[in-house]
Amino acid sequence: MVGNTSKTIVVAGGSLAGHTVVTELDRRGFTGEVVWVRGPEGTAPYSRPALSKELIQGKVTRDEIRLPAPKEHGLRLRIADRAVCARLDPDADRVLITRETGAGEEPSDGEWIPFDALFVCTGMRARVPQGFAGLPGVHCLRTLADAERIRERLAGRPRTVVVGAGLVGSEMAASLRSCGLPVELVVQGRLPMEPVFDAELGRFCLDQHHAHGVTTRLLTTVTGLSAAGPDGPVVLTFDDGGETTADLVVLGLGAVTACDWLRGGGLDLSDGLGCDEALRTARPNIFAAGDVANWRHPLFGRRMRVEHWSNASAQARHAVESWQAGQEGREPSAFADVPYFWSDQYGLKYQMVGHARGYDEVRVETAGAAGYPFATYFREGRVVAAAGVNAPRAVMRMKARIQSEGMTSQGAYAT
Ligand SMILES: Cc1cc2nc3c(=O)[nH]c(=O)nc-3n(C[C@H](O)[C@H](O)[C@H](O)COP(=O)(O)OP(=O)(O)OC[C@H]3O[C@@H](n4cnc5c(N)ncnc54)[C@H](O)[C@@H]3O)c2cc1C
Repeated sequence: MVGNTSKTIVVAGGSLAGHTVVTELDRRGFTGEVVWVRGPEGTAPYSRPALSKELIQGKVTRDEIRLPAPKEHGLRLRIADRAVCARLDPDADRVLITRETGAGEEPSDGEWIPFDALFVCTGMRARVPQGFAGLPGVHCLRTLADAERIRERLAGRPRTVVVGAGLVGSEMAASLRSCGLPVELVVQGRLPMEPVFDAELGRFCLDQHHAHGVTTRLLTTVTGLSAAGPDGPVVLTFDDGGETTADLVVLGLGAVTACDWLRGGGLDLSDGLGCDEALRTARPNIFAAGDVANWRHPLFGRRMRVEHWSNASAQARHAVESWQAGQEGREPSAFADVPYFWSDQYGLKYQMVGHARGYDEVRVETAGAAGYPFATYFREGRVVAAAGVNAPRAVMRMKARIQSEGMTSQGAYAT
């Protein structure tokens, strides 16, 4: 049993990290009040990875990707939907919560909520360059509403261009192609997913796109987007002087952390929200978890943010444990999980574990009956990451190896 009934905990963010903090507080027997500020989306938490996969392909509905509602065994849960944490008053340990108001409603001045602890789980929002926003036919993909807007357009069988070939862009190209649409993929680098995977797997990814009928423009940057008339197609211009038109443009240009609301609060906001190894910020009662959290990974000996689904839940559980340790006068442990992500494209499952940045050698072999590539990344002779296609066992074995070798000599992978 942790906490007591007079305590108030504010959880900022209504996706996986926030959901897991609330669930974990309840699981540990917290009996105070939890104010869960779920953000501007106005939807119950859902599986974000499904957006660019099953949801776009029409294989699941919005109800089927919803996360289960948290249990309330002992805690008192107050949910603030369509509401954001707008400001932190660090001297008084309180946050200003404002509510989005609809047409015809009085604007709200907001409400200051005092807290005993604050968990920041506000994640990221899509990066949309200035001049690319607000054009009809141009969409980014971060939220359920984004995905549903794109999905609505598919019945008209639009000619589609996906800009950006990271995880979301590559998955979107694959999913839109699976819906039978003509798809062109604009890749700024030499190969899709290359910055994540290195050349060999990037080449495999490119070959898959081509085998499934996606056309690609490599080493190309979009320099402008414009609308050819009110209902006309979108005109895309490229840095090589080329041009194309599309009915639907999906931007996969990455995301930016959503922590501007903490400005002036005396916290480290240089890249997300900076915290220590136990996910505590510069203020001992404020914790971070998920995409927004920038912490020093003890195995890799460097600061990082991890923008992956399983990291958000694992960090959220750990942040609650760190808070509880503080309540009980114990020193909290470091968050040392080996990063992991997966991506589904054309029926293949790509998986990666570890942290490849700064690797000095990559060995590629084949794995499994199909002979798909399996890459192992080394730094100074030590394995720091591994990635494979349809090779879950081999990938998970490498995860266990990186974790155990790292635990026996912490900081072993430091650059
Ligand atoms: C299309 C897509 C596909 C993905 N696929 C994969 C995948 O296959 N594998 C994988 O490992 N990862 C994948 N990811 C990444 C994964 O979804 C994220 O790592 C995960 O959602 C992070 O969860 P989070 O709770 O930290 O943040 P987020 O999911 O970003 O949620 C943050 C929440 O905070 C809310 N919020 C923002 N500002 C405020 C505020 N001021 N006050 C209150 N609330 C606020 C937001 O509205 C949002 O609900 C994918 C991401 C996207 C967008």
